[in-house]
Amino acid sequence: MKNKLSTKLFEEAQNYIPGGVNSPVRAFKSVGGNPIFIKRAKGAYLYDEDSNKYIDMINSWGPMILGHAFGPIENQVRKAIKDSFSFGAPTRKEVEMAKTICNIVPSIEMVRMVSSGTEATMSAIRLARAYTAKDKIIKFEGCYHGHGDSFLISAGSGAMSHGTPDSPGVTKATIKDTLLVPYNDIAALNKTIEANKGKIAGLIIEPVVGNMGCVLPNEGYLKAIREICTANEIVLIFDEVMTGFRLALGGAQERFDVTPDLTTLGKIIGGGMPVGAYGGKKEIMKMVSPSGPMYQAGTLSGNPIAMSAGLTMLKHLKNHPEIYANLDAAGEEIAHGLRKSIKEIGMDCTVNQVGSMYTLFFTKEQVTDYTTAKTCDTALFGKYFHKMLEKGVYLGPSQFESLFISDKIDKKLIKKILKANHSSLEELAK
Ligand code: PLP
Repeated sequence: MKNKLSTKLFEEAQNYIPGGVNSPVRAFKSVGGNPIFIKRAKGAYLYDEDSNKYIDMINSWGPMILGHAFGPIENQVRKAIKDSFSFGAPTRKEVEMAKTICNIVPSIEMVRMVSSGTEATMSAIRLARAYTAKDKIIKFEGCYHGHGDSFLISAGSGAMSHGTPDSPGVTKATIKDTLLVPYNDIAALNKTIEANKGKIAGLIIEPVVGNMGCVLPNEGYLKAIREICTANEIVLIFDEVMTGFRLALGGAQERFDVTPDLTTLGKIIGGGMPVGAYGGKKEIMKMVSPSGPMYQAGTLSGNPIAMSAGLTMLKHLKNHPEIYANLDAAGEEIAHGLRKSIKEIGMDCTVNQVGSMYTLFFTKEQVTDYTTAKTCDTALFGKYFHKMLEKGVYLGPSQFESLFISDKIDKKLIKKILKANHSSLEELAK
């Protein structure tokens, strides 16, 4: 595999951009080597600066559920551009977007658009605090909710991969108000709530975790959390930035039949453009400025080009419910194939999968939380990552990420992915 041009660009990038990348998860720091610079993408494939072609298994970390450069989205974006790129005044498309989201996700009665998942989660916890007049929030170890100060404590994803789950720069005062609880542990949650009675404004959770690798909630776990939050007057926030419109049209809350008070969205909702949103019960959302006192704003919020991309994406998903059955089937076929190879080759690996999200963990433990995720052999994952890359499959460059299957991954591509996986594991076992 040639990567002369990528290497040259990375050398130059490091002079001007911290670490040469605009988001840490793009660096290859935890797997070794230099990042690949992408030139273009179409359907299931990424093409880099050196003209290498890869099957894309991260899909921009989730948004590209319909594959890259999806024709109808491209057309709507081209059309929208002709009417200018931003107005800073309300538009018809924002109303259409809000209506579409509220119709798809029943727990969302009102919604505010923002420009990233981080903005959505930061705003949602401020809103929970404003609504309850309480200060503390509960966050789960290994969950990632963007880079807001309150969340960079035992954070998953890039923070976990790069050994900085607690970031310097977050004040002690902020840390004091974030209560950490292990995922999938109801007893620990009850204990924390008991010790902080009447002080907890909100609980934020990834209903399926994507950010310590893919970790599923235990049977009944989310329903138990719902009951506990109701009993203790804690605002339940589902962070569905990853799972929204992915695990079902209505997200993880539809799949697991649990109704949160607030939901945060991002990724798919923007069809690849920078978009986020938070929404939920009218009674709570009415606190948001200008209808209420909780201030939150954004120059580019509800940007018309982003709304065109996102709306086209959501309409397509809504009109093609078969996409979710196909994605589920693809996810199951991949997970089955991975498990078969692990068994045949005798690797100490485990696979977690739900719908179109999955992770191959290099540990023999069942991965159910932060502690078990950390038992992974990350050095071995690094070797595996590079073997897959050489064979034309682009995975997330970290053990602690979920992979995302797009609608463009057909039977033929699944075979290719599984073949690359089998030979890579065989080579590692030698
Ligand atoms: N919440 C979750 C669950 C995420 O996975 C992410 C990003 O990966 C975020 C929030 C932050 O979103 P963004 O990167 O758009 O700020």
